[in-house]
Amino acid sequence: MIIVARVCQTLSKCRKGRLVLAAALAALLAVPATAAASQASVTAGRAAASTSCPWVTSRAPVAQRVAELMSQMSLADEISMVEGHGTSNPYVFYTPAIPSLCIPAVGLEDGPSGVADGLTGVTQLPAGVALAATWDPGLAQQYGQVIGAEESGKGASANLGPTVNIDRDPRWGRSFEALSEDPALNSALDVPEIGGVQSQDVESQVKHLAVYNQETYRNTPADNVIVDSRTEHEIYLPSFYAAVKAGDASVMCSYASINGNFACNDSDLETTILRDEWGFPGFVMSDYGALHSTQGALQGTDQEQPFNTFYGTPLQTAVQNGTIPKSVLNTMVQRVLTEMFRFGLFSRPRTGSTSATVTTPGHVAVATAAAEAGTTLLKNAGGVLPLSSSGGSIAVVGPAADAAPTYAGGGSAYVIPSGTVSPLAGIKAAAGSGTSVAYAQGLPADASLPAIPSSDLSPAYAPTPFGGSYTGTLTAPETGRYVLAITNPCGCYTSTYLSLDGNKIIDDPSTPPVHTYSVAVDLTAGQQYTLSISGASSQLLWGTPSALAPGISAAVSAARAAATAVVVVSDDTQSEATDRLSLNLPSAQDELISAVAAANPHTVVVIDAGAPVAMPWLSGVAGVVDAWYPGQTSGTSLASVLFGQTDPGGHLPVTFPASLSQVPAATTAQFPGNGTDVLYSEGVDVGYRWYDARGITPLFPFGFGLSYTQFAFGGLSVSHPVVNGTQDVRVSALVTNTGHRAGSEVAQLYLADPAASGEPPRQLAGFQRVSLAPGASARVSFVLTPQEMSWWSDTANGWTQTAGTYQVYMGDSSALAGLPLRGSFTMATTPGARQVTVSAPSAIRPGQAALVRVTLTAAGDATLDGVRLALQLPGGWTAVPTGPAVFGSVAPGQALAVAFLVTPPRYAPNASAVVHATATAGDWLREAGVSVTVSG
Ligand code: BGC
Repeated sequence: MIIVARVCQTLSKCRKGRLVLAAALAALLAVPATAAASQASVTAGRAAASTSCPWVTSRAPVAQRVAELMSQMSLADEISMVEGHGTSNPYVFYTPAIPSLCIPAVGLEDGPSGVADGLTGVTQLPAGVALAATWDPGLAQQYGQVIGAEESGKGASANLGPTVNIDRDPRWGRSFEALSEDPALNSALDVPEIGGVQSQDVESQVKHLAVYNQETYRNTPADNVIVDSRTEHEIYLPSFYAAVKAGDASVMCSYASINGNFACNDSDLETTILRDEWGFPGFVMSDYGALHSTQGALQGTDQEQPFNTFYGTPLQTAVQNGTIPKSVLNTMVQRVLTEMFRFGLFSRPRTGSTSATVTTPGHVAVATAAAEAGTTLLKNAGGVLPLSSSGGSIAVVGPAADAAPTYAGGGSAYVIPSGTVSPLAGIKAAAGSGTSVAYAQGLPADASLPAIPSSDLSPAYAPTPFGGSYTGTLTAPETGRYVLAITNPCGCYTSTYLSLDGNKIIDDPSTPPVHTYSVAVDLTAGQQYTLSISGASSQLLWGTPSALAPGISAAVSAARAAATAVVVVSDDTQSEATDRLSLNLPSAQDELISAVAAANPHTVVVIDAGAPVAMPWLSGVAGVVDAWYPGQTSGTSLASVLFGQTDPGGHLPVTFPASLSQVPAATTAQFPGNGTDVLYSEGVDVGYRWYDARGITPLFPFGFGLSYTQFAFGGLSVSHPVVNGTQDVRVSALVTNTGHRAGSEVAQLYLADPAASGEPPRQLAGFQRVSLAPGASARVSFVLTPQEMSWWSDTANGWTQTAGTYQVYMGDSSALAGLPLRGSFTMATTPGARQVTVSAPSAIRPGQAALVRVTLTAAGDATLDGVRLALQLPGGWTAVPTGPAVFGSVAPGQALAVAFLVTPPRYAPNASAVVHATATAGDWLREAGVSVTVSG
């Protein structure tokens, strides 16, 4: 397994603690010098020329101000805007100011769950998966607003987030950071979150485009995803599409390689799809070291970060010698500057600073509200919850409850909390004076385990350097369950593996915040085992069965003495730069739960983890609450739910498998790949789609979540019995709180296309979270657009539809048992695979009209009413149709064409632009685009 290493100049200067890698360093040491040199020449070259920078205060349209500025930029200025400037800057990614042109510095900072990268005085929000479990776009908007406000307060101009990649497999180390396994849920949440970030004048950078779903082999050719276009368009791209259409400023290209091309060097992804198909006007930035050649400029990556390996001198030379046209560099710069003007970076200079304290009580309250709303009740036998705060006794158990709590996942998304409330502290604060709360840690925190003594291990363990290894023979002194642990101190985002008899049992990447990882193993007295380490390590630790026993017994006694036992467990190994080797909880937490549950029938397990975990003890416990990674006020939100002040309205944003053999990517060829390719052979059957298509019953289905009250669904109404493929269908139903407490429910609408479409059995098409008083009802209503009734045809290279019966299902989980309401409508006729195409001359002169032809192909059997052909053009461009562009009635076999006279403004720089076209009929939409060069 090879995992990308983070590289920086000196370990001590590495804010993220990234490691010096000898081989890469040789190439990269030159980086800051080169950047500095080019900047020096920029300044010197203009030393005497005092530019008045009219573009700063100008009221002209953004495109014109950008053009004015660009007309004053030297080649070196332009290179400075697209190259990375090393890692010694105040922000993780950075472009410096060019004072002579009044161009401000731009700081870009992680990330998806708050301001990260080691900055303090910030709010650690719940993880993305917790936000997704809320199914609440309103909360997503507030969440984004908090991030935007804090980034702004820190002086950052852009937020590196949200992470909207699909949770393809529960082993993906970054599942917690991404939202869900479903493109519709991701899209419905990323749009308001981005809106929230950008409402604070901060650019959002949605990441990571695309098909980036594992850490193993990332940024190497071995993570070469083999995926078909249909699967990309239907599963892996919609959340990016939604972000783009919502006005997201920027896109980060990913560490994945797709069908043979690294994402940051993939012109199909970055140009054909992102620019032409979707009409994205913003800029594309490389993930940390994810650009692999200077050709990326031609393929669609506008900015390299954080180094200038390819866009520093190499790009400058390529432009000088004509290998890469100057218009290409101009286009890159134009896109970066356009967003800077759009977000007011010139006219409203950023005043924040990295040392500012930006967290506020209001921001923390949003974090708590999101954590509460995402908390998901998975089991509640005999109404063990909510707990009473007016009497009784509670035994709180587990290192994760207080001694070693887990608030967040690891890696670049890790945010340093401004203060924390542990689960125990939260429970104690919420318990009334009559309720007693006892705490038993149960197990040692991993970091306090003792070293394996040399009497049991030969040769004695000695720390291993980066790239080093150790192999020894462990002779088990007793039979039973042990905890083994290693510490990887390098801070380098590079895996250290611990193997037992050749099987990897720990993969510790040394990302913030956790450097010691543990695992439980069963060993037999007197038996010899080979323990081997590959990678950096500073400690090899263990807990023997007899050493662990007293802590577990104390927890059992505490549980026996209490009315209710709350065992808080966590998985602190979910992080960037590693994939999980199994779904098991670290340490001996499973044993702890089983022992406590055997002693107290009222045992509730609280899970702090960013992804599904195995639950071998499920049948023996009364209650299970998934609190995800709840962020810094973990204890407050948890206690609010446990004591019933808040109804646990969270619903699963990912399927919980019963075992790894059930997951869609169960074979090694699919995950993590065989060292060459990673086969996405499950196609569109990702997440619940897979379980439904194969009739597999998971542990808990996508969408599932209990409440302290009960809800009933009724009164389903479907607006149209028959549609023609261009019409919306409205679906509504009545949700009633039939219980005795107030509570919240997530009504979910699933759509099943006709079987001939080849689509999965059912797909999420809408949802609405409602809070209802006892006895109250609310009508939830959804609009199914033609897009939701479409699928991507690789043959037609576009969206299409299948006539037939469409089933609608409504309820509160993806499993059929949770979908009591059923209805249907018929698509009698359809536009089928009608596509729009656009053709334009490859070059257009500024200020001069050129003929652009937009065509709608003939297909399907529906007669379309009110078809409109239109163009979407860059700022300052005009388009005049030479004939009618709206058509009252279009027969199935009738192709349409409209010619437009398209004129770029006189000031348009020598750069490329996308001429984007749409054909619409009601909410039915087809789009396409073509890149043209403006050349005077
Ligand atoms: C991660 C990105 C992050 C970047 C900067 C990369 O390793 O993949 O998500 O934004 O580092 O920290």
